[in-house]
Amino acid sequence: MQTKTFKIQISGRVQGVGFRPFIYNLAVDNNLFGTVSNNENGVVIFINTNLKIASEFLKNILANKPEVSIINNSILEETKSVNYTDFKIIVSKTKNQIQIPLTPDFAVCKSCKKEIEDKNNRRYNYAFTTCVHCGPRYAVTKKYPFERKNTNLHKFKMCTTCLDEYENPTNKRFHSQTNSCKDCGITMELTTNTGKLISKNQETILDELVTFIQKGNIVAIKNTNGYLLCCDATNTKVINELRLRKNRFNKPFAVLFQNIEAIKNNFDVSEKELQTLQSVIAPIVILKNNKLQNFKSDVIAPNLNQTGVLLPSSALLHLIMQKFDKPLIATSGNMHGSPILSKKKEALENLNQIADYFLHHNLEINFPQDDAVVKFINKNPIWIRRSRGLAPNITNAITNLEQPILAMGAHLKSTFTFAPNNTIYTSQYFGNLNSFDVSNRFTQSIEKFTKIFNTKPKTILIDKHLQYHSSSVGKAYSKIWKTELIEIQHHKAHFCSVLAENNLFKQSKKILGVIWDGTGLGDDYKIWGGEFFTYQNAKIERINYFEYFNWLANDKMAKEPRLSLFSLLSNKDRKRIKNKFSNTEFKIYCKLSKSNTLKTASVGRLFDAVASLLDIIDVNTYDAEAPMLLENIAKKYNGNNPIDLLDNENYDKIPSQLIIKKVLELKQTKHSKKYLANTFIYTLATLIIREAKRNNIKIIACSGGVFQNSVLLDYLFQLASKNKMKLKINRKLPSNDENISFGQLMYYNNIKN
Ligand SMILES: [Zn+2]
Ligand SMILES: [Zn+2]
Repeated sequence: MQTKTFKIQISGRVQGVGFRPFIYNLAVDNNLFGTVSNNENGVVIFINTNLKIASEFLKNILANKPEVSIINNSILEETKSVNYTDFKIIVSKTKNQIQIPLTPDFAVCKSCKKEIEDKNNRRYNYAFTTCVHCGPRYAVTKKYPFERKNTNLHKFKMCTTCLDEYENPTNKRFHSQTNSCKDCGITMELTTNTGKLISKNQETILDELVTFIQKGNIVAIKNTNGYLLCCDATNTKVINELRLRKNRFNKPFAVLFQNIEAIKNNFDVSEKELQTLQSVIAPIVILKNNKLQNFKSDVIAPNLNQTGVLLPSSALLHLIMQKFDKPLIATSGNMHGSPILSKKKEALENLNQIADYFLHHNLEINFPQDDAVVKFINKNPIWIRRSRGLAPNITNAITNLEQPILAMGAHLKSTFTFAPNNTIYTSQYFGNLNSFDVSNRFTQSIEKFTKIFNTKPKTILIDKHLQYHSSSVGKAYSKIWKTELIEIQHHKAHFCSVLAENNLFKQSKKILGVIWDGTGLGDDYKIWGGEFFTYQNAKIERINYFEYFNWLANDKMAKEPRLSLFSLLSNKDRKRIKNKFSNTEFKIYCKLSKSNTLKTASVGRLFDAVASLLDIIDVNTYDAEAPMLLENIAKKYNGNNPIDLLDNENYDKIPSQLIIKKVLELKQTKHSKKYLANTFIYTLATLIIREAKRNNIKIIACSGGVFQNSVLLDYLFQLASKNKMKLKINRKLPSNDENISFGQLMYYNNIKN
């Protein structure tokens, strides 16, 4: 039989995941000659063989691919004949623009953990142990393809032993780009908060650090995704001190555990939650408090009855936790409202009033990221923050864009989405763009992306709200790069994000979009946030919304739930809540509400009003505190007879004020807070179903921050299934403003009106 040459092109998450070594070994096992290399589309293989064997070889690849890889597509074709005499991994060739997912960071794997725990292993106690299956990727990437010279590991020259591993096809570190060891790798230093060196002894440095933690100090630890602020989670005094120094009084902290057993000892964890905690993403998972033993939740997550927990994401954190052997507070290393820090100088400058001691290391981080956050509702994940381990792309979104596009996203939970080609890259969460530093990080990252892909956008998409910092930056870029600039309405972007995630643009039946959040500028220049849309045939229509009420006192309204309540009560009923204000304040707001012209339909503010009405909270100390507390109280109600406050009536506009009036009436008849909170949320769920019925629609798509509420989602899923309706929500991105940039791009690509 005559031998021909076949080319196999594989695309997907195939770089930085041990793909080439896997192909090499498979080819050698099958006595095939040829080459494998990374290219701009993923991995490309050439082999001398016949069609039958080439097809079997491809089948074999698809069936046995490396654990952390994801294959999106594969093409097998005959190509120009070349006579190979062996099988080789060859240097990457990129001629065209890259078209691959950027590989995210992977949590330390089981086998690497074993090595660093084993006294007889040469990587014993080495905090930066990685292999082809684990370690930082996106965090240390400067350019693609994922080759050592394109990463920040480049400055560490592999010693001969490491190089042997790297070149040995049977070694687990064969072609592992992040390979290093004690002799050639990354080194740490322990300093005081003034930067004075305490230790550089790599053998003992982590023991010294742990002693400081045990003694009740706050330490800043540079992990492979940025600095973390840490202290003993069982020591109330030091946690309160951290709150004081960080100026963060009630916002929950995440807790890092040494192993899964320790988590099981403190929480009832479902199988899915266990899997997620131990996954390569290693996110913070929000678990219900029910059998806490090791720490007091009230100082960690006040009034919430839940705790965000995680396992060590890196060899460094694994070693520290082995030594500490107790739960540890692990929160992003930043000042209130600033981005997570990753440089020694910046960390010492910004965190010296918070941390007593610092553990630094000399691996540079290109893309610092917070830990991702997830919670489970009905056994399914809802992402609260999308960051390390997930960013920067969404694997299944495909577009037919003709030219590079940049979508700038929203303002408070900022992200950007860049589509240099047919692959879409949604950045990690950056935070509130009011902060100068967050905004700098945001623009620097955009510029790094234009370098990675060596292309500038031709179109820039911004929110309709021109006071969003992302919108003004987008405008400025548009001038510099001479691009087209397009404004997209906030809630329509939310709607498109959930339509795209669920592949609904091609759906012929009409879809109801329910988009509820805190704020967003509407087409009528009022503040939207309680919207009902329909989608059909590439057109979006606004069909209903919550009756407008006064938006008082600008930014204060979102921070002070008592103002939403004030605004939603009648003049007569307002007198009942006079005690929530000083006399002067009350007079000012009465006056303001007469002359006010700014109107809102925000459901987020309706939640605030109910939280204040039930005397749960009047002034927030952190973003979304009121709805979180309300959700927590509503969860405590186990009765099965919540009532619909609107008595199953259809309304032309959803009567916001009537809902509040009904809650007030029930409150006066001495119903419990938990019953009232639950009943309010149940009412919202029923009115969604009613709106769908009224319009004869069977598919409902919900997005916006309000849909992170587990009580609301629980009711909605129950009611939708009872009424034979399909309910779709954001599953890959958070439902909050983190999805706006992706939604803007999807709007641009799919909507025709
Ligand atoms: Zn590993
Ligand atoms: Zn080495």
